[in-house]
Amino acid sequence: MKIWLDGALRDSDSARVSVFDHGLTVGDGIFETVKAVDGRPFALTRHLDRLTLSARGLGLPDPDLDEVRRACAAVLEANPVPLGRLRLTYTGGHGPLGSDRGDKGPTLVVALGETTRRPDTTAVVTVPWTRNERGALTGLKTTSYAENVVALARAHEHGATEALFGNTVGQLCEGTGSNVFVVLDGEIHTPPLHSGCLAGITRHLVAEWTGAKETDLPLDVLHEADEIFLTSTLRDVQAVHRVDDRELSAVPGPVTAKAMRIFDERSAADIDP
Ligand code: PLP
Repeated sequence: MKIWLDGALRDSDSARVSVFDHGLTVGDGIFETVKAVDGRPFALTRHLDRLTLSARGLGLPDPDLDEVRRACAAVLEANPVPLGRLRLTYTGGHGPLGSDRGDKGPTLVVALGETTRRPDTTAVVTVPWTRNERGALTGLKTTSYAENVVALARAHEHGATEALFGNTVGQLCEGTGSNVFVVLDGEIHTPPLHSGCLAGITRHLVAEWTGAKETDLPLDVLHEADEIFLTSTLRDVQAVHRVDDRELSAVPGPVTAKAMRIFDERSAADIDP
């Protein structure tokens, strides 16, 4: 496997990042996951815009987007797969063993994993931990994902593939790696960004293409909604058939099925290849 590290394509077995890299020692980094279909990245400009926003939020220098684009192209060309997930990681770089950053500059890694299309339906659980809608990292796609790792493990213990968080004021927020939509009386709703959720790229496209509304929703809405679905780069639009102990019937429901169809059709046209 060829990856990109600090300016060049390298063999993943011999590529080396410092053990003092701040991404490793204090989780000081940001990332993007970009879907690549037949070697073509989907919505790359939107991902690069979000990478830049996350970098600014963390006080990292703006990433060199020309280099990131070159890196993506080189990694995709060197590792042909039908459906891939490009992983862009950008960290605070080599630094001292504390929270202060060193002065050597950031580390950029671009890697590729092969993936498969996700099933159309899935089960989710709610978790007792909350997303902080007002933290310094809220809305940034940082590599500090350990809370998501713990929540996802909880989901797997219950035969689910995603865990959903409420925020500190009891509103529905997002999943560990997805945004959430609910259907109430035929209308589609998704939590607003002030719930603390990530500005998901799939969320944005689905909301634009289906007319979904941004609405403050209590976490309990998951136990009443007519239909529920998740969105993310790797799930696309995925219907939820079980939330905790609640089984939803006839999944995907008609509104979700239409959202899936619209997403498949519109995203098949190149979004900024
Ligand atoms: N929320 C979180 C916490 C995520 O990590 C992700 C994606 O990884 C999403 C939402 C969905 O965002 P996107 O549609 O851009 O993949």
